[in-house]
Amino acid sequence: MALRLYNTLTRKKEDFRPLDPANVRMYVCGPTVYDFAHIGNARPVIVFDVLFRLLRHLYGPEHVTYVRNVTDVDDKINARAAEEYPDLPLNEAIRCVTEKTEKQFHEDVAALGCLPPTAEPRATEHIAAMKEMIEDLVKNGCAYVAEDHVLFDVASMPDYGKLSGRSLDEMIAGARVEVAPYKRDPMDFVLWKPSKPGEPSWPSPAGIATPGRPGWHIECSAMSWKHLGQTFDIHGGGIDLVFPHHENEIAQSRCAFHTPVMANYWLHNGFLQVEGEKMAKSLGNFVTIHELLTGWKGFPWPGEAIRLHMLRTHYRQPLDWTFEGLNECHKVLWEWYDGLTLVSPADNLPKVAIEALEDDLNTPNVVTALHGLKRSGDLAALKAGLNFLGLSGDRANILRAVPFVAGGWEDAANKVIGARHAQGHPAFGSTVVAVPTPLARDEEIRSRIEKRNAARKAKDFKEADRIRDELAAMGIELKDAKDPKTGELVTTWQVAR
Ligand code: AMP
Ligand code: ZN
Repeated sequence: MALRLYNTLTRKKEDFRPLDPANVRMYVCGPTVYDFAHIGNARPVIVFDVLFRLLRHLYGPEHVTYVRNVTDVDDKINARAAEEYPDLPLNEAIRCVTEKTEKQFHEDVAALGCLPPTAEPRATEHIAAMKEMIEDLVKNGCAYVAEDHVLFDVASMPDYGKLSGRSLDEMIAGARVEVAPYKRDPMDFVLWKPSKPGEPSWPSPAGIATPGRPGWHIECSAMSWKHLGQTFDIHGGGIDLVFPHHENEIAQSRCAFHTPVMANYWLHNGFLQVEGEKMAKSLGNFVTIHELLTGWKGFPWPGEAIRLHMLRTHYRQPLDWTFEGLNECHKVLWEWYDGLTLVSPADNLPKVAIEALEDDLNTPNVVTALHGLKRSGDLAALKAGLNFLGLSGDRANILRAVPFVAGGWEDAANKVIGARHAQGHPAFGSTVVAVPTPLARDEEIRSRIEKRNAARKAKDFKEADRIRDELAAMGIELKDAKDPKTGELVTTWQVAR
C-alpha cells in the first residue's frame, strides 16, 4: 500500500506524491513561546512526529525535511514579559520569557518521545525574509500601506478562502476581524504593524517611517519559504489554524511567489478536550505537559503513557483527555512491556502496523495490531512496532507513575490509589502491597528497610540492592548512616523529589 493522507484542501483522502522523493518537505506551525505548553499543544507535536517517522521510513531518514517554527514575537509574549520581569527593559524581559519557555517546550516534547524536527526556525531570525515578501506583495498590488500598517488586500486574490471553504460572511464572523477604519475591507489582514515605544521593533518595509513588527501569519510564510522553498509537500497544524492562519499563509505565499499552491497536502489534527469539557483556565481543567509529567491528579505520568493516550484516537477525531484513559494506557504499556526489555526488535517492521499508518495515520489500528502481536507472542515484532511509534518497550521507563507523590496523600488521592491497586496497576508491581494510608505506607517502607538491613547483615547485597531499587521505583529514597554511639546501621527514608 502507498501512503494516503486526508487533505483539508480537497476534503479527500489522497495518494501522497511528494514533489521530490529525494527531499520530502513538511512544515508544522509550532508554539508561541510565552507559557507552558498544554496537552492540546502536544497533540500536533505527537501526531506530526508519527508522520515524520513514517516519512523517514518510506523515503529514508536523510530524504525528509521537517520544519516546526518557534513564534517568538507576539503580543502575548510582550504582555507576559512585562508582567513577569517588570524591572527589566522589555526586550530583555522578552528574551528571558522566550528562552525559558522554549527550553521547557523542548524538555516536555522530548519526554513525550518526539524526535527533534530537522529545523526549528525562530520568527525573529527571519524578519528580513518577511519584509522581502511584504515588499513584493505591495509591488504586486496584493498589499497596501495604511496608517503605518501593511495590509493584505483580500479582494486581490479571487480564490481566497479555498482551504476553509467558507463564505465571506462566515469568515468575518469566524475571524472576529478588527474592522479598523484604515482597512479597505474588514477581511484584510495585517502583514506588518507599528510598534509602541519600548516594544520589539524593526525598520519597517514599504517606505513606512515608524519602526514596526510582523503580523503572525507572515512569519510562517517566510520561514517555510526559507527552509522548504516556495512550494512544498505537507503543511500541518491543529484544526483551529485552518482559518484564518493557514488561509492567510496561503494567500501571502501564493501571491508573493505566483504559485498555484503553497503546500500540496494540508493536514489538521482534531481538538482535544479534558474530561469532556473544553480546556480553559477558567474551568480549572487546564493541563500542561509539564504538570502531567510531574504530577497530575496525584501522579507523575510517564511520557510514554501520555503518548499512547494521544495515539489511540485517530488524529482527525476529537480527543477526550481523561484520568481513566491515561491510567488505562499506562496499564496497557505495562502489559505489553512484560518480558520485553531484553528482546531485540525484529529487523522488519510489522506490516500490519505500517499499513495502518499508511492509511491516513490510523494509529488506533496500529494499537490493535500491537495487541495482536502481544497475543500471538511475537515479541520481536511487538518491540519493533513499539519502537517505531516512539515507545521504548522497557518497563524501567514507565515506572514513574508511583503512588508516593510528595504531599499528595489527601483522601482523594488515596481513593485513586486504592482503585489503581485493585486493577493491579503497575505502579505497585506484583510484589508491592497496597498502602492506602500514610500510616500503612510508612509501616510498609519500614518493614522493607528492615528486610534490606537483614539482607545486608547476611551479606546478601544483591537482595539488599533489589529492595533498595524497588523502593526507589516507588519514589522512596534511602539514606544509610551509622549510629555514632552504637555503631549500628541506621537507615532513614524520604520521598524522592
Ligand atoms: P498555539 O500555541 O495556540 O498557536 O497552538 C499551537 C498548536 O497547538 C497549534 O497547532 C494548535 O492548533 C494546537 N492546539 C491548541 N490547542 C489545541 C487543542 N485543545 N487540541 C488540539 N490541538 C490544539
Ligand atoms: Zn503557521
